[in-house]
Amino acid sequence: MKLYNTLSRKVEEFQPENPERVKVYTCGPTVYNTAHIGNFTAYVYWDLLIRVLRLNGWHEDRVLNITDVGHLASDADEGEDKMEKGAKREGLTVWQIAERYMNEFLADYRALNLLEPTQICRATDFISEEMALVDALDAKGLIYETSDGLYYDTAKFSNYAEFAQLDLAHLRAGARVAFSNEKRNVSDFAVWKWVHDGEDHAMQWEYRGRMGYPGWHLECATILHERLGEPVDIHTGGIDHIPVHHTNEIAELEGAYGKQMARFWLHNNFITVNGEKISKSLGNTYSFADLAKRGFSHLDYKMWVLQGHFQSERNFSFTDLASAKQRRLNYRNFAALRWQKPATDMAAVRDMITAQLNNNLNSAGALAELDKVIAENTPDEAFVKFLDEAFGLDLAKNTPDISDEMKAKIAERQHAKDAKDYARADALRDELAAAGINLLDGADGVIWQFAD
Ligand code: AMP
Ligand code: ZN
Repeated sequence: MKLYNTLSRKVEEFQPENPERVKVYTCGPTVYNTAHIGNFTAYVYWDLLIRVLRLNGWHEDRVLNITDVGHLASDADEGEDKMEKGAKREGLTVWQIAERYMNEFLADYRALNLLEPTQICRATDFISEEMALVDALDAKGLIYETSDGLYYDTAKFSNYAEFAQLDLAHLRAGARVAFSNEKRNVSDFAVWKWVHDGEDHAMQWEYRGRMGYPGWHLECATILHERLGEPVDIHTGGIDHIPVHHTNEIAELEGAYGKQMARFWLHNNFITVNGEKISKSLGNTYSFADLAKRGFSHLDYKMWVLQGHFQSERNFSFTDLASAKQRRLNYRNFAALRWQKPATDMAAVRDMITAQLNNNLNSAGALAELDKVIAENTPDEAFVKFLDEAFGLDLAKNTPDISDEMKAKIAERQHAKDAKDYARADALRDELAAAGINLLDGADGVIWQFAD
């Protein structure tokens, strides 16, 4: 299996250290708001990653974290805490906000038929472990205190600029104005923030005799260390995480314990909507509820994502979503053929699909292989199961065999047609259509299909 590794900026052959436990860490959502379709592209791509690991016969141990504390509105450790912002907006407590949006996220996650992570970890469940990591950084002389909190001295971590290929001199020049004079270097970041007198910050814990809360990056470094142990085989996130969040996770974990954090880093690119950035002000932060209002399901959207590649920037439009939906329905009709015609040998197609997926998760290429053969072939149950394992489009579940009663009606309609009793034949066709089954007359007989 080949994967593009951000660490080397190259497509590399991937082999897990332990095929029985492929360690995968996925940076999860900050649960302060309804997620939009852009936020979910990552989880669809990383679901594909897990599916391809499994196709290779490997077993994953995968952690997804839920950020419910410490993520500030700006990456520069400034601005409001996102959770506090959500709480104010809705007149709820931060804990209620976390609960609400975590559940909403998981409901969408499941409706997308994404494989359950082995472990789902909430940042607030790891506070004492996060403090231990700060202690370890302190013991290495990597942090210093300011009036704002405990900061990482990035000049002391010699590889700091390496991962993101940062140009620190350029950063320094550009940040002269904004950069607080208590920070030693412009790229220094908070590992722990103090709550100041009079500051309204509901989530706070006592550490070193003061109330405070963790900086955002600390949770991933901690949870990965506690639940998987470094190095993990694969760490995933959005490309926006490269210069700050992942760079800082690495500085924290590798700085504290001296072991490589992850062997492979995978980053998904961003999507635009009708050519524009997704943003509240443009009114294009579509949620799955918005898609549903226009007649599109979670799986239609998933199909749309799978038509692209995680490294490519993509543009979303409802026209393209409609064609993805049609493609998904075509596959569903293909899967339903297994009840109606003798199966053909599809072993070679299976191999071609697997080869495409093993080539840096080329789902678009894999789907193109399938498109080439669906018109002339009939799958068996095992092939449909294979497609479901590879893509997670729930083809088997959505194409149960029809009842004997329906089959009898289809046969009766055929007799009526043969006897030129078209009124009876049409009445039977309408009855079936009302029950969600459409008939398609072809050269080699009639085929039934599920209506939309
Ligand atoms: P936000 O809620 O805006 O902080 O977004 C959370 C994460 O979702 C970001 O860190 C990105 O990795 C991802 N994300 C946000 N917008 C997009 C987008 N348009 N396309 C793909 N991923 C996105
Ligand atoms: Zn993270």
